[in-house]
Amino acid sequence: MPPIIDKQKCNQCGYCAQICPLDVIKVIKNDDKKAVIVKYPDECWHCRACEKDCRQHAIRMRYPLSHLMLHMDVQKEG
Ligand code: SF4
Ligand code: SF4
Repeated sequence: MPPIIDKQKCNQCGYCAQICPLDVIKVIKNDDKKAVIVKYPDECWHCRACEKDCRQHAIRMRYPLSHLMLHMDVQKEG
């Protein structure tokens, strides 16, 4: 699941698009307007680089269920 960009907080600086190792996020320029979009959501590997480095705190991660599961060691009986 891809990150979500809060358009109210985002200032279109483009830093998240620069640092994403998989080019998931793109800056779209149209005349004098810019928009930051999650263009390839299925490519995101949830490294959180974009979320951590966004100075506007405009990115929120969504994780697939497999990332939310806890793994516990169970002691063997006997
Ligand atoms: S780093 Fe944050 S503020 Fe900058 S474009 Fe990305 S989401 Fe927007
Ligand atoms: S979590 Fe990592 S891979 Fe996914 S969009 Fe952000 S920087 Fe790119």
